[in-house]
Amino acid sequence: MASRAISDLHPQLQPLAEAFVRRCRDAGVEALITCTWRSGAEQDALYAQGRSRPGPKVTNARAGQSAHNAMRHGSPAALAFDVVPLIGGKPVWDAHHPHWQLMGEIGAALGLNWYGRPDAPFREFPHFELNSTDLDKEKK
Ligand SMILES: [Zn+2]
Repeated sequence: MASRAISDLHPQLQPLAEAFVRRCRDAGVEALITCTWRSGAEQDALYAQGRSRPGPKVTNARAGQSAHNAMRHGSPAALAFDVVPLIGGKPVWDAHHPHWQLMGEIGAALGLNWYGRPDAPFREFPHFELNSTDLDKEKK
C-alpha cells in the first residue's frame, strides 16, 4: 500500500510538506496528504489503469519513472506528494473548487512544482513536486 508518511519523502521535501499543510490550515484549507511514496509494483498498477485495466488514465509514469518512486540510500525518498482538500472531513475532487487554487498558490510560494498549474506537462491537480533545481543543490 502506498505511503502517506512525510518521513517517506526526500529530506529536503519533508519540511516543505509540513509547511505546506500548516500554511493551508492557516488559510482555512484542510489539506490531506493522500500519497508520498509508492513502490514500483504500485506504480505499474496505476499505469495499467486506463490502458490494460478499466478506469481513467491517472499517470504517464511506469515503475521507477514517477517522482513518487524515488529512493535514497536504499530507503523511500519521494520527490513529490499528492494532496486533496477536505471539507467537513470529505475530499473535494472537483478541481474548480477555490481550495485547489489556494493550495496551488501556497505550494508555489514554497517553491514547489504544482502540476495543476495551467502550463503543466501533464495536469495532475493533487501533485506537488520538489523543484529539480532545489535537488541539484544537494548533489553539488
Ligand atoms: Zn503525484
